[in-house]
Amino acid sequence: MTALDDKTVVREYFNATGFDRWSRIYGDGEVNVVQRNIRIGHQKTVDKLLSWVEADGNIADLSFCDAGCGVGSLSIPLMELGAKSVAASDISEKMVLEGRERAAQILGDRPQPTFEVADLETLSGRYHTVCCLDVLIHYPQEKLEAMLTHLGSLAEHRLLVSFAPKTPLLTLLKRIGEFFPGPSKTTRAYQHREQDVIACLQAQGFTIKRRALNQAPFYYSLLLEAVR
Ligand code: SAH
Repeated sequence: MTALDDKTVVREYFNATGFDRWSRIYGDGEVNVVQRNIRIGHQKTVDKLLSWVEADGNIADLSFCDAGCGVGSLSIPLMELGAKSVAASDISEKMVLEGRERAAQILGDRPQPTFEVADLETLSGRYHTVCCLDVLIHYPQEKLEAMLTHLGSLAEHRLLVSFAPKTPLLTLLKRIGEFFPGPSKTTRAYQHREQDVIACLQAQGFTIKRRALNQAPFYYSLLLEAVR
């Protein structure tokens, strides 16, 4: 499958069944057990990132880019914490519309993130901090470097990225899973080797400042903070 195909598949998925599934997971309504665990795990990733930003104590001075913002699960709390600005974007129009609506509801009169439909590789501008949470899982190894390099080019000081790390156990479980064909609930999930991600960040002059593995049953995501 080519990279263009990957993006088309991902965009169409998140404008259709993927929107229904993920906007529910990233919400607070009724969900099944698997979805509830993914919700809990994902919230750990968001909370960890917010705790790092808060610990630095300078959020009011910082401009953020949230690439692949989904329904605003990170962008909205960043604004609530007083970020100078948050530029939220996503390849899926449905996710963006939902994000904008949730932001208006939660933030009311307070400043909002700006929302835009965009493929992260077409974003331009410079931000103090670029965030990209749980997006790379949708792309194969060949796309990793180009995406991380583009995200890095937008980041003046910091890139926060989370992805499903490739581990022997997960690889084994995936193989076993492939022996049990069933209705596909999601797009293909790709894991990435931590050393590949770090090497790509280091090549752009970043060093890794903080690292956290966030997990729950059915959720496994490594969050890296790269700074320069
Ligand atoms: N970062 C959000 C959403 C994660 S779900 C959060 O953590 O809450 C993954 C999101 O990535 C989806 O909304 C999907 O539409 C978006 N996405 C996938 N490929 C993208 C791309 N190339 N550019 C921008 N967004 C993308």
